[in-house]
Amino acid sequence: MPDACKLAAGNWKMNGTRADLDEARALANAFPEPGCGVLLCPPATLIAAMAEAVAGSAVMVGGQDCHAATAGAHTGDISAQMLADAGARHVILGHSERRADHGETSADVAAKARAAHQAGLVAIICVGETEAERDAGQTLDVVLGQLGASLPEGATAANTVIAYEPVWAIGTGRTPTLDQIAEVHDALRAAVPDTAISLLYGGSVKPANATEIFAIANVDGALVGGASLKAVDFGAIITALATA
Ligand code: PEP
Repeated sequence: MPDACKLAAGNWKMNGTRADLDEARALANAFPEPGCGVLLCPPATLIAAMAEAVAGSAVMVGGQDCHAATAGAHTGDISAQMLADAGARHVILGHSERRADHGETSADVAAKARAAHQAGLVAIICVGETEAERDAGQTLDVVLGQLGASLPEGATAANTVIAYEPVWAIGTGRTPTLDQIAEVHDALRAAVPDTAISLLYGGSVKPANATEIFAIANVDGALVGGASLKAVDFGAIITALATA
């Protein structure tokens, strides 16, 4: 059975202008052979410029969302083909901020993932429980339910990554216990259609906690928000993953 690939993925969210491309260049220079996949997902306005800035390096560039359609009357939206054309290789889908702020359902996420696959992009599909759901003992039901409804047919390790992101851990500085992360990742590993699909943990991953999180079985990397904005912080997380 092939092992899942390690991936350190950074989600810049709605942060960054061209001046911040120096952070991407610094990463590219610091990690010519990182020992794991390295991905930055900047705002759509920066994808093409970042892809150019890191061209020829190990750093990959991705989007944070795409529309399910290939083209048409969808003001403000971006298709998967457009992301690929701009230099993206991955796209984050179903992030909890999209699910909460834009009412995205798991069916929407599955449709977007189909579009991403058709465009040749790797879909990073996010799942995770709220604090109320965890307190109610519903974590595994919620996460596995989202997974089942968000994964399109034909999802394989070549075109799909799963990110487990407890909603209450995103941007809060709080993280689940290592046992709680392990419980969810073990359940995800048993549920994914291809056992080599990479499983990322996301939610307040920092240089200080990365090593212990990456030591957990079935954690193949991280989806990192705040700590991916600065090359020095993200670089420490990359090093922790590469040496895990
Ligand atoms: C995220 O946005 O996916 C995330 C995990 O954010 P942070 O690392 O800032 O908690």
